[in-house]
Amino acid sequence: MKEPTASNFIRARITHDLAKSGESRRGWAGGPGVAAVHQTAPADPAAIRTRFPPEPNGYLHIGHAKSICLNFGVADEFGGRCHLRFDDTNPARENQQFVDAIIDAVQWLGFSWQHGEESNLYFASDYFDQLYEFAQTLIRNEQAYVDSQDAETMRTNRGTLTEPGTDSPFRNRSVEENLRLFAEMRDGKHAEGTHVLRARINMASPNMNMRDPVLYRILNASHHRTGDRWHVYPMYDFAHPLEDALERITHSLCTLEFQDHRPFYEWVIAQLARADYFEAPLPRQIEFARLNLEYTVMSKRRLHTLVEDGHVQGWDDPRLPTLAGLRRRGFTPESIRLFSERIGVAKADSWIDYGVLEQALRDDLDNRASRATAVLNPLRLELTNMPADAVEMCEAPVLPRQPERGVRSIALTRDLWIEREDFAVEPPKGFFRLYPGNKVRLRYGVVIECTGFETDEQGEVTKVTAEVLPDSKSGTPGADNYKVKGNIHWLPASPGHEAARAEIRLYDRLFTSAQPGAGGSEFIDALNPESVSTISAYVEASALTDTTGLPLQFERHGYFMPDLVDHSADKPVFNRTVTLKDSWAKQKKN
Ligand code: ATP
Ligand code: MG
Repeated sequence: MKEPTASNFIRARITHDLAKSGESRRGWAGGPGVAAVHQTAPADPAAIRTRFPPEPNGYLHIGHAKSICLNFGVADEFGGRCHLRFDDTNPARENQQFVDAIIDAVQWLGFSWQHGEESNLYFASDYFDQLYEFAQTLIRNEQAYVDSQDAETMRTNRGTLTEPGTDSPFRNRSVEENLRLFAEMRDGKHAEGTHVLRARINMASPNMNMRDPVLYRILNASHHRTGDRWHVYPMYDFAHPLEDALERITHSLCTLEFQDHRPFYEWVIAQLARADYFEAPLPRQIEFARLNLEYTVMSKRRLHTLVEDGHVQGWDDPRLPTLAGLRRRGFTPESIRLFSERIGVAKADSWIDYGVLEQALRDDLDNRASRATAVLNPLRLELTNMPADAVEMCEAPVLPRQPERGVRSIALTRDLWIEREDFAVEPPKGFFRLYPGNKVRLRYGVVIECTGFETDEQGEVTKVTAEVLPDSKSGTPGADNYKVKGNIHWLPASPGHEAARAEIRLYDRLFTSAQPGAGGSEFIDALNPESVSTISAYVEASALTDTTGLPLQFERHGYFMPDLVDHSADKPVFNRTVTLKDSWAKQKKN
């Protein structure tokens, strides 16, 4: 399902930039590099270049999906390329497992960084030598210096929003001393926290981000790709614009909190362009609002807490908003792309109702998911006038509006399972299903009349009895003679034909609060203690042989996905992905 692409300010901005006359020629050497590399290369065949730059320190979530769909989406629309770049400049929590999971998630969403021969998969750590050279250049041009104030003093001397900062006493170190100290920092000769490399801009700037921001800090940490080679690592604000410039990114789309960082983004690139490392057109940063989804959390810190403290089963827990979790729950890549398109991009932060995500899934699956029957809360029904060994095969469409998808056969036998809620001893007003004396149609089967029921000592109904009415089978000429108001679903229970038993996991919101942690509360206190429940149910045989890879629609109950980890034909396990209607919206109003 694809909806027409809505216009938004980013698309408008790109259209505007592309139409601008005098946009200079952009060379592309087939991979990243400084101006000298691109200058002699052919003109870039890509009209624009965007990038998705995750830090490999966690799993991707639905918020990242918004950014992926936006970056890869506009690149496709405009005949451009989108790079997948791992922003692995902070070794502390980064590792290969996260790199692999991120690659997997981007591919699963349906996007590719591969265009013919050109593979735009990059690692910021591959630029460490180049970034170091850039920093040396800034030092030589007296635009950077090694500051040896301690962290606390540096913070105090930064000033406030209303007061200017104070110059560091180390601000006027000689170029030679700065180069020597910076090299010593790189080589591990100094302890963490003793020195940093800072830009030399303006300690009185009204923009705090321009008050000599830190470019490099000492970290004696081992990096998952460069090992122990480096003892200094670049700060995001320094590395990011340079990574963009090396990759000839034309439009660098990022979330709103970076708006105040844009002057520094431009400063860094401009200084190095003046030193002939880059040439126009230079990358432009454009900010958009991040996605906030109600009843869940998305910051990586909080997701780490949920996983590491065992509040969920793992990064792919079906209750999490991670792409691995949503996938296991049964969300399709198409539904997530549809959701991203529907929520659009805005310039102001807002919260999106979780129901919008679920509705995108329903709209995607409605015309694709195979139908099947499941009885979630089973009650025994005996058709007393049917011989014990009789079997009546009933046919039901796999997908009603698509006859070419074929039919499924269900054995109608003397013993059946029906939903407990489809029977009432004393029917409430408007109840058209089974009760003593009433007739209903067994969906795709025959018309039956209820003749009685049995109960246990507690008065609980244990079995219902009924008789099959003659010539009533669906699809036969006599079937129209019966006018019944109720139509209930069922599964065979007679020996030899019994429907498969399956574990069904029903999910609710992970949090009871729309904005967990809002107003200074602990987000963990808002965890919903009943976010998962497990029931034992019966499912139709066809549910175990479906090959679509999509969730199935269990009629009347919703969409259910075979669990990617625990499901097997011998021990079926289904996750309820979403109900057929937004029952949550109703609950919220009550
Ligand atoms: P966190 O702040 O939770 O650690 P992050 O945003 O720093 O997450 P990154 O790996 O740096 O995580 O994110 C990669 C890209 O995804 C960034 O460009 C970021 O702007 C974007 N992104 C992250 N979260 C969201 C969100 N909720 N909505 C839209 N884009 C997002
Ligand atoms: Mg980040």
